[in-house]
Amino acid sequence: MLIGHQIQWGFLKKITASGQAPHALLFSGQNNLGKKKVALEFIKLLNCQNKQGDELCGQCFSCVNFENQRHPDLLVINPNSKEIKIDQIRDLQKFLSYSNQMAEIKAVIIDEAHSLNQEAQSCLLKCLEEPSFGAMIILITSQPEELFATIRSRCEEIKFYPLAKEVIKEGLFAQQNNLRLAEIIDLADGRPGLAISFLADNKLIENRLADFKMADHLLKSGLTERMILIKDYYLALSKNSQDDEEISIDNSEVFQAINQFLENLLIFLRNLLKKCLATGQSSEILTKLIQNLRQTEDLKFLLINSNINKRLLLENLVINL
Ligand SMILES: [Zn+2]
Repeated sequence: MLIGHQIQWGFLKKITASGQAPHALLFSGQNNLGKKKVALEFIKLLNCQNKQGDELCGQCFSCVNFENQRHPDLLVINPNSKEIKIDQIRDLQKFLSYSNQMAEIKAVIIDEAHSLNQEAQSCLLKCLEEPSFGAMIILITSQPEELFATIRSRCEEIKFYPLAKEVIKEGLFAQQNNLRLAEIIDLADGRPGLAISFLADNKLIENRLADFKMADHLLKSGLTERMILIKDYYLALSKNSQDDEEISIDNSEVFQAINQFLENLLIFLRNLLKKCLATGQSSEILTKLIQNLRQTEDLKFLLINSNINKRLLLENLVINL
């Protein structure tokens, strides 16, 4: 079942009914909004064997196997470590060159498409320039600006936005007896995928609350205290309390944790900004918060797209908070 995104879903139904679905779509919007879920539902709708009007059945061979991502006519591409490389796009070319096994329209989903490196983007562009009959490519990304303009122009872009709390609550009706549901929806910040992850794993809720607490502490502290806080935070992450000057840790666990922390800091700052706007705080405070938001976004971008030293990145973050 889809949670929210009814306007986007309505548009996809319309193009399905018209029989003129484009060969390539670009789903853009923040992480965890449910873009991949919508992509899979759309592919199911295109191929459902027992479609009733514009409703898919959810039970035929096609629906079941696209849903569990085991259909022979589906290829899902994810970043390998941080990037999507040209070999993966060559696999896509091969996949497109074969006849459809069972589905009327075979599908490729490129998740986190902003991770396509330059070489891979050039290769993908060629595929988009010569669309295959009976195939659909869906690019999913939170950073569409990282894609070549020529790629974007060859895709029909559909934008996704955070959902209202009531919409998520309605979608999670089956969880209505969960005592933490209201807190979870609050923490999910308009992202149903995140609420579902929180429901599945309480540890994620605790991590987010800990990050919020850290963000609050950092914002209320002076520079010296902030530097100590962030040093301790980094050392706890790297699980190395000795020889900390020399370590250059680049394992994915540390990367994920810092990336998540920056994401949570952004949410914390946005919520704070909303509160400040509502209570009529001075323009000086608002300007500072906006600066903090921009800086955090820049550092998050650097973390994902470069080999920047992570400790330096965190120190830079707190120096300018
Ligand atoms: Zn079906």
